[in-house]
Amino acid sequence: MTTSGFSTAGVIAVGSELLTPHRIDTNSLFVTARLNDLGIDVRIKMVVGDDRAELTETFRHVLPLVDLVVLTGGLGPTDDDVTRDAVAVALDLTLEEDEAIVERIRARFARRGLEMPDINRRQAQVPRGAVVLDNPNGTAPGLWLEHADRVVLLLPGPPRELQPMFEGVARDRIEPRVGTHRLYRRVLKVTGRTESHVEEAAQPVYSKWLANRPAITTTILAAPGQIELHLVTGGDNAGEAEARLDKAVEELVAVLRPHVYSVDGRSLEQVVGDLLRARGLRVATAESCTGGVVASRLTDVPGSSDYVDAGAVTYSNRSKVDILGVPEALIQEHGAVSEPVAIAMARGIRTRTAADVTVGITGIAGPGGGSDAKPVGTVAVAIIGPDGAVASHTWRLPGDRQQVKFQASQATLDLIRRTLTK
Ligand code: ATP
Repeated sequence: MTTSGFSTAGVIAVGSELLTPHRIDTNSLFVTARLNDLGIDVRIKMVVGDDRAELTETFRHVLPLVDLVVLTGGLGPTDDDVTRDAVAVALDLTLEEDEAIVERIRARFARRGLEMPDINRRQAQVPRGAVVLDNPNGTAPGLWLEHADRVVLLLPGPPRELQPMFEGVARDRIEPRVGTHRLYRRVLKVTGRTESHVEEAAQPVYSKWLANRPAITTTILAAPGQIELHLVTGGDNAGEAEARLDKAVEELVAVLRPHVYSVDGRSLEQVVGDLLRARGLRVATAESCTGGVVASRLTDVPGSSDYVDAGAVTYSNRSKVDILGVPEALIQEHGAVSEPVAIAMARGIRTRTAADVTVGITGIAGPGGGSDAKPVGTVAVAIIGPDGAVASHTWRLPGDRQQVKFQASQATLDLIRRTLTK
């Protein structure tokens, strides 16, 4: 433990079902987010089945490494609910029945006109010295245990029980132990570069910040079409920490420009929407391979009626000709997936709407339909800007059908962003 109080935690999610493909441990995500809000860094996270010996060992292993251990689940009344036992064994504490808990559980059953089964008495077993945390939404109470300079927190597994207990009682107990230390974070969002390109450009900057004291740690989260850089720093002074992050963000933007589209949490469609609104412009889309994903993403943003004018999904050649007026000869000459056709689509929607900015998108999402010249993932996008300037690009996007559609929408939205920020 640091002099400023708690700074590290471990989370152990207990439940054999969490080791199957059928249930995901979401409790640790919730607990981690809340602990981070309090400035506590989660260093270790584990999932353990309902096995007393394995849980005892795991808990013994984690306890010396962190200031706070949070265990979730395994507090039920049945034989396979082993968390209380394992913690008591590991800390060498005896379990004692707490009559007040028995009464509370009995009353819960009585409210539903039922008698309490005797096995529920197990839930009233409390390791000596533990503080009982009331669970308003279930029978399993939580437990707060202080052991030397460490704290162990046991919370029930069902998220609808755990979450209100964390907010209602656990947080108030943890907060005074934290001192003034908090975590501060920023997210940079990048598109149009691969993870290795981003890593190569950003690495010298963030390794410098990692070596500094106080350090800034950077995590790269890559997904098809977008890469996020998460910057985190800890500190006792919000102003100082924010200034440190501002400086790091500025340096990263300088090396990654113009691929960084957001440093304030906004999505690409929000950024594009804000640019359109600021300039009083309206957008219309003519989409083929993306099937309306671009229009859908633009309209995911509340208030997008301020700047979205229209969207057409013209999937067949016939509809490109009939609805957008793409010349049939152009399709014959260049193929439907080509920059000239994408430009004709953008022109077609422009003459048929009141939009100031229009895009045409045509491509091969796969898995079939590719050729040597135009493999699966080939996407042609055209944009006509507010001044009437035409630009077009062809991309070769990797991945399956869904990934190609998403990346094509990402590339298109980014093209709109770049056109409007030129
Ligand atoms: P109760 O006695 O109320 O059941 P419990 O502490 O014994 O509480 P568990 O039996 O371990 O809780 O889990 C009950 C259910 O809660 C699980 O079937 C699962 O649906 C959910 N759950 C448990 N742990 C987690 C977790 N880590 N993340 C998400 N859901 C969980």
